[in-house]
Amino acid sequence: MEFDTVIHGGTLVTASETARGDIGIRDGRIVALAERLDGGNRRIDAGNRLVMPGGIEAHAHIAQESSSGIMGADDYLSGSISAAFGGNSSFIPFAAQHRGQSIDDVIATYDARAARSVIDYSYHLIVTDPSAEVLEDQLPRAFQRGITSFKVFMTYDMMNIGDGGMLDILTVARAHGVITMVHAENNDMIKWMNARLAKAGLTEPRYHAISRPELAEEEAINRAVSLAKLVDAPLFIVHVSTAGGAAIVQRERLAGTRLFAETCPQYLALTREALDRPGMEGAKFVCSPPLRDAETQDALWSHVRAGTFDSVSSDHAPYRYDETGKFMNGRDIPYPRIANGMPGIAARLPYLFSEGVVGGHLSLQDFVALGSSNAARIFGMTKKGGLAPGKDADIAIWNPEATRTMTLAGQHDSMDYTPFEGMELTGVPEVVMNRGAVIVEHGELRATEGQGQFVARAPHALRGPGHRVKELDPARNFGARIAPE
Ligand SMILES: [Zn+2]
Repeated sequence: MEFDTVIHGGTLVTASETARGDIGIRDGRIVALAERLDGGNRRIDAGNRLVMPGGIEAHAHIAQESSSGIMGADDYLSGSISAAFGGNSSFIPFAAQHRGQSIDDVIATYDARAARSVIDYSYHLIVTDPSAEVLEDQLPRAFQRGITSFKVFMTYDMMNIGDGGMLDILTVARAHGVITMVHAENNDMIKWMNARLAKAGLTEPRYHAISRPELAEEEAINRAVSLAKLVDAPLFIVHVSTAGGAAIVQRERLAGTRLFAETCPQYLALTREALDRPGMEGAKFVCSPPLRDAETQDALWSHVRAGTFDSVSSDHAPYRYDETGKFMNGRDIPYPRIANGMPGIAARLPYLFSEGVVGGHLSLQDFVALGSSNAARIFGMTKKGGLAPGKDADIAIWNPEATRTMTLAGQHDSMDYTPFEGMELTGVPEVVMNRGAVIVEHGELRATEGQGQFVARAPHALRGPGHRVKELDPARNFGARIAPE
């Protein structure tokens, strides 16, 4: 058999096993796995290295305007390059609808922006305006194009769609086999806190963490799950940051609810003490939900170990520490006017490998599952996230022993800071491939602008009994059929 590339001598690691072997690649796909493969126009020596599915970043904000109109620092070129240096072969950033905008218009806008990507990509839509037109016509057309997930917000006045809006959109999602993602924080609890903090004159960055109580997340997760159960729709909770929220996810998963969840490195690696830095420097660590405390960190790690989370995602939301980003509303501003979010797309997998695998929390299988394979399965990237014949040759070759210090330059993004600065990490993705093409090799970029392709994703396969609400069961409500089948 002829191969374009053979990766030989490495240890193959997938979400289910570890084995010694070679990989044969042709036309961008894996075509052979064997103990030993000869030939190949190019042979890549993976001796003493781990050969894993390329990472899939399932939560990133790339070339996206916030609802207040600030454009993030990374476009699809810099964002995808940064992702590639972090061991990712594909990503699923958000394509955000602003109120009044049609979904077709949103997709056309992001198609133009994403054409520069060096890794494969899809989008999760963000839906802020679920009008009848959007629900009945525009969204189903987006689903048919292979955009089989979207996110809604329970917080922010400009974005949240209310409980009734959520029920309507969850019903549509269930009917089409797509996944609803949710940013779960209680909007009124946060506004109530903001008003009280403002009245007391407490507006420095550190109060951002105070203003968004853990209970605001717990309450909203519980409500989101209840809404999804009422219509038996699958739900994905993004960026879980609290022990209480994670405990709800764990309980519901055990009960068979169709529920998925992620947490992010910043909630595992950082605490809200970072917001106490002098002057306005705490602004670098303003993100929502906010950083929590060391106790919460420990609880989240125990949930990562226990399998409560499907993914660890970056929530890369790059706002520079200047007037284009964090301070677009001015330098000396109260915390609610600081741009929300922090970068981390290049740091996600190196952090997870170092702290998780080297640190003894995770197996290599867990690492692949949390960084790649689960996202492929849940979000319908059927050709990605594994090393089997027929899959795309999206591969990352990791040196598990190399160490390095995290620096801004090492992130290869368009930012002027990294929240992970100075962290000592073990494990480096030395070679990263996208559909058989080497895009990063020993710290050098080998990709060309625009080589990434749009990935049409499959609908979600509903599995298991799900949740049958008594009042919506025709056998128990006098034969009335008022729920989705
Ligand atoms: Zn986000």
